[in-house]
Amino acid sequence: MWPALLFALQLPVALPAPLEEWKAEIEARAFHRIEIIRIPGDPVPEEDQEVLFSYFNRPDFAAQFARTQALTFRYVKGERTRSLILLNLPMMQNTQNSAAALIAHELGHLWLASLGFSPPVYEPGPRGCLAIHYGDMVQHILLRAESDRRGILWRPSYERDYTAASESLRNAPQQGLGDDCFRAQRLSLMLDVRTGFETKSFGAREEYLSLLAKQDPEAEAIAIELIEKLDGRLGLEKTSYEWALEQSRAAVNRLIEGRNAP
Ligand SMILES: [Zn+2]
Repeated sequence: MWPALLFALQLPVALPAPLEEWKAEIEARAFHRIEIIRIPGDPVPEEDQEVLFSYFNRPDFAAQFARTQALTFRYVKGERTRSLILLNLPMMQNTQNSAAALIAHELGHLWLASLGFSPPVYEPGPRGCLAIHYGDMVQHILLRAESDRRGILWRPSYERDYTAASESLRNAPQQGLGDDCFRAQRLSLMLDVRTGFETKSFGAREEYLSLLAKQDPEAEAIAIELIEKLDGRLGLEKTSYEWALEQSRAAVNRLIEGRNAP
């Protein structure tokens, strides 16, 4: 058992009103509760303990969690579905990000799922991570538009993360392309920065994009092409969602297979 899961020291997360409202709407539509658990610190609800502890005993899951600030763990037990938003407190302290900003993002994914806009089916094996990233490219555009509509202030924490990432890239020795998974993740990140933030909307935006492009010029070309394709054509509508997923899947494949390469 993961010892850090056993502490119970702090008050429950206080959500700003727009997030509380969004969470309640998703819970009502999807017929299940969303639990927010900060690790370490928050008590794990009794009904989730067995499943969650078993996951944290798996090295791959524990390693994945250690690298992330927040993730949503969704599982079905008998008739019930449970969604647990897990926040990694040590990582959050590193980035100075607020729980609210991270929770808003996770709620966005849950909101899309509650409306029937499911992420691509996870394929076990090496292609599994590709599905996560091409799904994120489309989901992030939709969930950010909804966050804006609800007046949720998500940009400051991303600007801080991107600024810090840009700084460390600037000072890092030249990095290689990375494996397929990493390249797909970088492509998704390029889309996030370009579609989530207007040109020059924060100081480090252009430098960050050019440092990313230097690492993988092919990815930059594909990101720009994909954004043009999706522009104005992606909305909360099944056929446009499926079409957009198909476009982002093809974009990732082009990147990995190098069909755009000169
Ligand atoms: Zn996401």
